[in-house]
Amino acid sequence: MGEPQFTEFSKLLQELSSIGFIILDRRMNVIFWNRFMELHSRIKSEEIIHRKLTGFFPDVNEAWLNKKIKTTLVLNNQAVTSWEQRPYLLKLPSTQSSIDDVDFMYQNCSYFPVKNSDNVTIAVGVAIYDVTEIAVAQKLLENVTEQALDLQEISTHDHLTGLFNRKFFADQLVQDASRCRRLNWGLGLAMIDADKFKFINDTYGHQVGDEVLKELAVRLQGTLRTFDSLCRYGGEEFVLILPNVDQQQTRLICERLRKSVSNTPILCGEHEINMTVSIGTSCFDKEKSLEDIIAEADGALYLAKNNGRNRVEQHQEKENT
Ligand code: GH3
Ligand code: MG
Ligand code: MG
Repeated sequence: MGEPQFTEFSKLLQELSSIGFIILDRRMNVIFWNRFMELHSRIKSEEIIHRKLTGFFPDVNEAWLNKKIKTTLVLNNQAVTSWEQRPYLLKLPSTQSSIDDVDFMYQNCSYFPVKNSDNVTIAVGVAIYDVTEIAVAQKLLENVTEQALDLQEISTHDHLTGLFNRKFFADQLVQDASRCRRLNWGLGLAMIDADKFKFINDTYGHQVGDEVLKELAVRLQGTLRTFDSLCRYGGEEFVLILPNVDQQQTRLICERLRKSVSNTPILCGEHEINMTVSIGTSCFDKEKSLEDIIAEADGALYLAKNNGRNRVEQHQEKENT
């Protein structure tokens, strides 16, 4: 079997300075190696021609490349691989010297059949495109997006319980209240405080206390709708925004919350810990400021504590006389 005759394109391919171009026979011997390849691999064409590619690039995935060559020869059609599937075919030095942590060239490759003058496919051409700049930019963008999402998570969530934090609560309450005002909906607010939590810490230690707080968060969250916002207000205190509910529904939801905590002891290691929460609620109306309804829920929570804990108290509107 004769070597392919590169007549009209040979010189052009040889001189291509922006694309690597090689031709491999079915045994993976190099039969063409252009200027780009010489420049970036520092291997001269005359050194590598008629030699096995893998002798010069020991980290080439031989089995994979062999299969690629055979498939191209048999199917007689073109195939491509992108840097996202396989960062590079041949490890060549990076062309982006300004970027420290990139020490190789990212490559997109196309594989296509090379035919002789009798139209018989006898070898495989591989074009290698340097896409390091694009790959690095995309990776940078992914990192920045990931960091921005992490930052957003940190700035809106409490790290112990994973619930929303107090800052998120303040913003969310403004948003929910404005929506409820516009749509003429009610809105319930509940302040929830773990009862005698200091005793838990004093008895079992702070670490167990943390575990109990996490489980409390899970139980409270478990009974809510997706558009309710449960936030850790601070310490062992939580606050809940309930859009589109009236006073009676607020009470029912809070009773359910209270029971989800008191009905079953919390298991923590070998300890079975009986926990309860006290809850104070208030409801939004157009006359009240947001500070007013927070203060009212706080007042009702104070009442729940004074009335014996493990209970829900609602803010009572003063009768107009
Ligand atoms: P009350 O029923 O009146 O609310 O009693 P209490 O003991 O729950 O209230 P107090 O305000 O006296 O104590 C709250 C305790 O919660 C004290 C504090 O150390 C504990 N605490 C606050 N934040 C955390 C936390 O993140 N982890 C743990 N383990 N404990 C916490
Ligand atoms: Mg407490
Ligand atoms: Mg408290």
